[in-house]
Amino acid sequence: MVNNNKISVITLGCSKNTVDSERLMNQIKLNNLELIDDPNMADTVIINTCGFIEAAKEESVNTILNAVALKQKGKIKKVIVAGCLSERYKSDLEKEIPEVDAFFGTENYEGIINNLGGELKYELLGERFITTPSHTAYLKISEGCDHPCSFCAIPIMRGKHKSIPMENLIKEAEFLAGNNTKELIIIAQDTTDYGKDIYGQKSLSNLLNKLSEIKGIEWIRLMYAYPSQFPDDLIDTIAQNPKICKYVDIPLQHISDNVLKSMRRGVTGERTRELLYKLRSRIPGVTIRTTFITGYPNETEKEFEELCEFVKEIKFDRIGVFTFSVEENTSSYLLGDPVPDKIKESRKDILMEIQREISTEKNKEFIGKKLKVLLERTEGEYFVARSYRDAPEVDGEVLIPVNGYNVKEGNFYDVEITEANEYDLFAKLINT
Ligand code: SF4
Repeated sequence: MVNNNKISVITLGCSKNTVDSERLMNQIKLNNLELIDDPNMADTVIINTCGFIEAAKEESVNTILNAVALKQKGKIKKVIVAGCLSERYKSDLEKEIPEVDAFFGTENYEGIINNLGGELKYELLGERFITTPSHTAYLKISEGCDHPCSFCAIPIMRGKHKSIPMENLIKEAEFLAGNNTKELIIIAQDTTDYGKDIYGQKSLSNLLNKLSEIKGIEWIRLMYAYPSQFPDDLIDTIAQNPKICKYVDIPLQHISDNVLKSMRRGVTGERTRELLYKLRSRIPGVTIRTTFITGYPNETEKEFEELCEFVKEIKFDRIGVFTFSVEENTSSYLLGDPVPDKIKESRKDILMEIQREISTEKNKEFIGKKLKVLLERTEGEYFVARSYRDAPEVDGEVLIPVNGYNVKEGNFYDVEITEANEYDLFAKLINT
């Protein structure tokens, strides 16, 4: 029996959580339950939490407490908590926040749907309720991770690496293309490990080529690549397949051999450089995004300077910087947290300042050049678009003065770059 229940799903954390929520939301719809945006108007609030680092955990707990407050005021009937924080700390949370009606781990769609009085439509799990703008969607190709990175709790919450069979991913991508998706953003904990478990070898190249044959898909963007054992054939596939964006997101975390060793990253500074120069020489014009951690327990001032010199040397197109967060049950936990927060933050600021100059310089090189952009939305006097260099939410954008142009969000347009600042490009439309 299915209750006529208004459900609000709150998604925290990363794009992998977004995909999980979209699968769940589609199952909620398939069970004739009503999905609503505003948790204040819901009967049931489901929170898909993040448990990655301290700040994310705090945000998740606060969101749970806000929902519990709504329940205590009689505004909502039920609070359900799912996702990484719940996977990691279920028994503690049950004790500390008993007002929550049910706690579920990651990807427990059946448990949640049954709790709502529904039935899981297993055969339709590949279909999703898209929460991103329809022209762009994440495709999660595997879950879990086999890497032993010392600072990371994700394997504790998401388990070992598990690839999703290619035929399921093709079907899911066709479903997305049928819903107007033009850009597929390929995500996982480590996308380059795709297929090693189910096909006995790394098969990301094969998958990307197959996805590029799907009618309607125009851009395929690769995120979360891992630097060690980067498949050589993948470099050629990115270089040769016109639908694959010349863009690689490859978190490196550090460059000093000492720090990389303690982080258990399985790669050296020298091999990291080799890979980056190989990507640049074999994929002309490739955009490289990376992330670093500052204030890792054994990072000395000298090792931080080495990282700064590396960033100046390589001139990445995009970087993100996180400060080290102590995570229990990770192998770095025993190292404690000797680097003061003030130092961690100042190192982060120094790196971002170095990058700001590099990014400005690189962006200015595009003035006068033509680019194909995906028009995302209108904001005030500007159309906001992205080029092959820009992943959503984390990178820069291309801003185009509205100027009475008759254009449509979700379409591709050719532009000429007229101006640039450290993050964004400014452009005018051509051929419209
Ligand atoms: S690759 Fe390392 S940092 Fe990334 S999810 Fe796996 S263990 Fe964590």
